[in-house]
Parts: sequence; C-alpha cells; structure tokens
Amino acid sequence: MINFNVPVYTNKTIEYISDVLKTGHTSGNGKYSKLCSESFKEKLHCRTAALVHSGTAALEMAAILADIKSGDEVIMPSFTFCTTANAFVMQGATPVFVDIRADTLNIDENKIEAAITPKTRAIVPMHYAGVGCEMDTIMDIAQRHKLLVIEDAAHAFDAYYKGKPLGTIGDMGCFSFHETKNITSGEGGLFVTNDECLAERAEIIREKGTNRNKFIRGQVDKYTWVDKGSSYIPSDIIGAYLYSVLEIADDIKKKRLHLWNNYHSSFAQLEEKGIIRPSFPSECEPNAHIYYLRCPDLASRTQYIDFMKSNGILCVFHYIPLHSSVAGQKYGRANGDMAVTNKVSDTLVRLPMYYNLSEDAQTKVIDKTIEFWSKR
Ligand SMILES: *Cc1c(COP(=O)(O)O)cnc(C)c1O
Repeated sequence: MINFNVPVYTNKTIEYISDVLKTGHTSGNGKYSKLCSESFKEKLHCRTAALVHSGTAALEMAAILADIKSGDEVIMPSFTFCTTANAFVMQGATPVFVDIRADTLNIDENKIEAAITPKTRAIVPMHYAGVGCEMDTIMDIAQRHKLLVIEDAAHAFDAYYKGKPLGTIGDMGCFSFHETKNITSGEGGLFVTNDECLAERAEIIREKGTNRNKFIRGQVDKYTWVDKGSSYIPSDIIGAYLYSVLEIADDIKKKRLHLWNNYHSSFAQLEEKGIIRPSFPSECEPNAHIYYLRCPDLASRTQYIDFMKSNGILCVFHYIPLHSSVAGQKYGRANGDMAVTNKVSDTLVRLPMYYNLSEDAQTKVIDKTIEFWSKR
C-alpha cells in the first residue's frame, strides 16, 4: 500500500521529547519551543514567530488582532480549507469568496477589487501548494483601500515570492504543522508578524489574554487579565517534535522538490490526454507541498482515483468549495462567478508526496498513472 502521506520524524525526535519529560518543563514556551521560534525568525526574517497549537489557532489570533467585528467582511478564495473562513466567522465576519486563477489556483487578484465594500476589513490570500499569490497587486489593493492582509501560509513554509518568504509579506502570516504539511509536529502552527504593535498584542492574545510574558521579563509587577485571548500555546513536547523536524527542513524540501520534478517530467506526455499539470509564475519559488494533476472531468477523476486504489495507491482530492459548503452558504457569500473554483474542485487529484516516499514507490505511482490515462 502506498499512502497519500506519511508524517516525518527523525532519529532525534524521541530523544528531544524525553529530554522535555525529564526536565519537568512540559508546558509551553520551553527550551525546544524557543529554539523553534529562533530558527523560524532567522529563516523567515521576521520580528515575531510565535508557536501555536495549529494553523487554525494562528488564523484565529490574526482575526482577533485584526479587530474583526460582527458585520465586517473578509475577502478570501473559496478554494481553501474551512479554517481560513472559520477564524473570521467566529468573530462575526462574513467571508466573501472570490474565484481563483486557473494557473496557480490562488485567489484571482484581478477579481478582488470588485468584492470590496465599505464593510471590507481584510484580504486573506492562501498560497496554494506553496505557490505565492500575486502579492504585489494584493498589497497595492490593500494599501489603497486601507485593508489588512493576512496570509494563510499553511502550505507555504520555506516558499518565496520575488525572494520574500511567503507568510511575511502581508501584515500577519499563519503557518500549519499538521501531519499533512511539509514540516510537522502532528498538530502545530506558527503566527508571524513584522508589525511591532500587532506583535505586542499577539503575545497577550496567545497567552489567554494575560500579560504573563511582560511579567516574566520584569516589565510589569503583576500578572493579570488585560485583553481578549485564548490558550494558543503548544506544549514543549510539541516544540521538541517540531525542532527535530526543523533540523532536517532543508533535506525535506530537497527531497520533495526531487519527487515533484520526477512527477512533473514523467507526466509531460499526459498533456495530450487533456491532463493539466501544475504551473507557476517565474517569480514564485515553491516548496513542493503538493503535486496534483487536473483530470478532464469529474467522472474520469473518480475512475482514476478508484484505479489507483485498486492498485494499492492512495490519491486524494480537495477542496469542496467553501461557497457551496453548508457553513459557507450560511455564513459567507460568493462574489461573482466561481467557474474556475468549481471546475478545479471537480477535477484535481493529489498524488502521494512525502519525505520518505521511496523511488520504487514513486515509480509505481507514475507507471500506474500513465497506464490508466494511456488507455483512454
Ligand atoms: C492545514 C491548513 C490549515 C489549518 O491548519 P491546522 O494546523 O490543521 O489547523 C489552514 N489553511 C489551510 C489552507 C490548510 O491547508
């Protein structure tokens, strides 16, 4: 059986976790969490890199920091994971869905301005598969309309747009370390910002709305409840797992890029069968988070996934567009035609992609894929 994903860990993971258990400091902000945070600040060139318990938690912090209130509108793609929207819905906002580009599958920057109303507060670009959204255009729109930009960089650790790390271009960035992501601690996330004011308040929101960190640094003489907040800090056991994986981050990226390139060159011949391979603009430097193919239609996609499964290979599809989901219809609205989103949602397939995917296993995935499509 070839799985779709196998989460990575290293020969240091258990050692670091048992170190945490032995020292007795198992709650958050411990030794390994601090090492992770320093390493992220260096890699992402950002002022604040705060570990949180999930990508969802990072998005929730961003929504609170953006002061999102009931009736506000937040612009985002419909082709994304539900927590991109949920974080804002929980603060009372209406997610306004915009269609995606057919090449990158990212929010179509040319359709954003038409979705802006006097209630719009923020734009949430999601960098699908680690390919950067058209950030220069998005930042320009945001500046002209005085909107915040919150990057959902859940797919995008160590990926770049015009040389800048994704997640650090907008006002705030949110990363995920869920087991399906390139870098993982099972569950986990990271909140980043370069803005001093946001950073100061983020520290409080992340610490249940208290000024505990200022107290620890001796900046205030008592520790008390000062703002909204929640418990967003992961245990140092998570920090230990994450740090062990971060130590091999360069190797993980190298391996994934190698697998991605193997798929891509092997499938060039499928284009004459109407299969579309991923593509990205030259200013983007992706991280091989996802390798996908786009099938001619829903029926052939279903047959392809079934064929692969009958050969012991698990391929998956996503996303059910948020604008057509139960909660999306209740809480959000689509702005304009969602033609590309609907089409991509019906036809995209993700192939097995993970650090320990062997050459033999990948060759089997490639051979079976070519076998299926060549008969059509
Ligand atoms: C994985 C993911 C998230 C949420 O991350 P969790 O760590 O699972 O909470 C948010 N947005 C996108 C686009 C994702 O893929």
